[in-house]
Amino acid sequence: MTAATIAFSGSRIDRADHIRQSPELLAGLMSHRARLLLLEGLDPVIGEDGALTWGSLADAAPDAELVFLGLSDERGCFAQVPAAGSVAPPNPRLWQALASLAAEDLATYGGARSMVDWHARHRFCARCGGATSLAKGGWQRNCGACKAEHFPRVDPVTIMLVEHQGNILLGRQPRFPAGNYSALAGFVEPGETIEEAVAREVFEEAGVRVRDVSYVMCQPWPFPSSLMIGCHAYADDPAVTIDKNELDDACWFTRAQVEDAMRAAQAGGKGEAFGAPPPFAVAHHLLNWWVRRG
Ligand SMILES: [Zn+2]
Repeated sequence: MTAATIAFSGSRIDRADHIRQSPELLAGLMSHRARLLLLEGLDPVIGEDGALTWGSLADAAPDAELVFLGLSDERGCFAQVPAAGSVAPPNPRLWQALASLAAEDLATYGGARSMVDWHARHRFCARCGGATSLAKGGWQRNCGACKAEHFPRVDPVTIMLVEHQGNILLGRQPRFPAGNYSALAGFVEPGETIEEAVAREVFEEAGVRVRDVSYVMCQPWPFPSSLMIGCHAYADDPAVTIDKNELDDACWFTRAQVEDAMRAAQAGGKGEAFGAPPPFAVAHHLLNWWVRRG
């Protein structure tokens, strides 16, 4: 598998760090054929051709903060930070729109969404409460009062397949569609490694002890700004104790059940035993990886 097959990865925009550092280069780019990614709040504006819509900087609100996404065909690409109060959480209409985008557009949108969302939520300094302003093309915010510098953050989340004698442990959260199961997941907490986070989350949610945690693949997830770190681990004792605050259910599925569910998921349906996560999700790719590994 290539990274580009994972949703929200594989943008072709050149991040051009040297331009972020230079107010002169940035100003030059903004005056010359610059492109603005059109957004409604945080949602994409999708054209009749099913692609993202780009305008010019003249389409931005006069007082809007602009994030420099990078270079494409020598042209600067920007996105506008939405006005306070114009940001809505992801809704079914958004998921439908994203499903129609080509992989490259999805990656460009995901990165831009995470960035402008971060700016919209960090207008005030976390240290002193003073107003902050955009700097370095949007890859930093500076506090006008205490001079603290703030940087866009990425939150690491572990997501893991736990294996016992050829079976895989999957769980379902209350918000999942009926019959759907996915890999267990949870945020990495301060002071722990990825391996420790995997072991802690699996024990907290399902009461299962794991060993030999290994990294498999990852996915940027722009809701709002996670990095999903896909892992695999083994369990020696399959006894499950479910944390009902986190999960509706967690249980073991056989290879044949997983293969069946993955075939059904490709066609947008559910398998006999369970519904697998959609191709959008890194859990889908993790299950494919496990099935192909044999
Ligand atoms: Zn401050």
